[in-house]
Amino acid sequence: MSDKRDYYEILAVARTADAAELKRAYRKLAMELHPDRNPDNPEAEAKFKEASEAYQVLSDAEKRALYDRFGHEGPRGAGFGGGFSNVGDVFSAFSDIFGDIFGGGGGPGRTAGRAADLETQIELTLLEAAQGVTKEVRFSRRAVCHGCKGTGAASGSGRERCPQCRGRGQVVHSQGFLMISTTCPMCRGEGEIVRSPCTACTGSGIEMVEDQLEVTIPAGVDDGSTLRLSGRGEAAARGRRAGNLYVVIRVTPDPRFERDGADLHTEVPITFPQAVLGDKVKVPTLDGETEIVVKPGTQPGETVAVRGSGLPKLQERGTGDLIAHFRLVVPSELNREQEQHLRAFAQAGGEPEPAPSERGGFFRRKKKN
Ligand SMILES: [Zn+2]
Ligand SMILES: [Zn+2]
Repeated sequence: MSDKRDYYEILAVARTADAAELKRAYRKLAMELHPDRNPDNPEAEAKFKEASEAYQVLSDAEKRALYDRFGHEGPRGAGFGGGFSNVGDVFSAFSDIFGDIFGGGGGPGRTAGRAADLETQIELTLLEAAQGVTKEVRFSRRAVCHGCKGTGAASGSGRERCPQCRGRGQVVHSQGFLMISTTCPMCRGEGEIVRSPCTACTGSGIEMVEDQLEVTIPAGVDDGSTLRLSGRGEAAARGRRAGNLYVVIRVTPDPRFERDGADLHTEVPITFPQAVLGDKVKVPTLDGETEIVVKPGTQPGETVAVRGSGLPKLQERGTGDLIAHFRLVVPSELNREQEQHLRAFAQAGGEPEPAPSERGGFFRRKKKN
């Protein structure tokens, strides 16, 4: 009947997942699929809506019980409208998750009655993202003209009632029996006109200003996160509220690490003797280095987690881990002594001795004495 995917499968959680697990799973997906991070990607948007619908049902105990018993038709019978047609609705439904971070409010420019929203970017290093930082952002925005305080009229003059519509903003034409009301062409519906316009803004009441703002970025932000600064967008003018400023966080990748949410992964090269006999090796951390133990008999690809050396989790307690992946380095050059010992090693283990190779010939040629 329904070709919809299973909600648990969409969120990749067990059917027994508790509220916290569901929230975590949804948050992770929502961050990945967030429209701000996937502009003009209808597939990501569809998945974002799908995940949001799944979370909307499963995070509600009653809808979840109905879904568990009756499938997709269950919650619908209980008045569930079934999903989101508009991304903006997702943000308003889960404002607790998106909050002021992750493009809360639906992104730039969606609310009527408000001046335009602005967007700017800020670059962070991985360490800054991990520790949180206060940064200055610069952006240009339209502000109320200082010359006329937004009236658009030259000093000494003012705004006066539009003579064409007598302040109504609308003009009425009659066409036979029909009365057609249209926006007044003289005042463009404002009901007032300026006889001698302000020279600074040529009557618009608005000027461009360079603005700067200190922005406090919370520890643990990820690349593509968006901070919303309410009312810091374009100026409130003529009865409209000021717009919002959206600051998109860009985290410069650190070649030493691969980030996965709050966890960091790093590759640690080890030699064959270290892998076999065990050792202690240094691994880079965000702010220095730490020592980890290579256990005797370590296999290539084995991992060791350094608990708490990742990034802070943004909306939960705790800190992620640094996960070291051991990479076995096979030497591409051996001196004669090394080669002899390696052959002896194979022999001592009862292995057939490897045939003298190209490599053997190479080393004999390179031999010094
Ligand atoms: Zn002006
Ligand atoms: Zn008018």
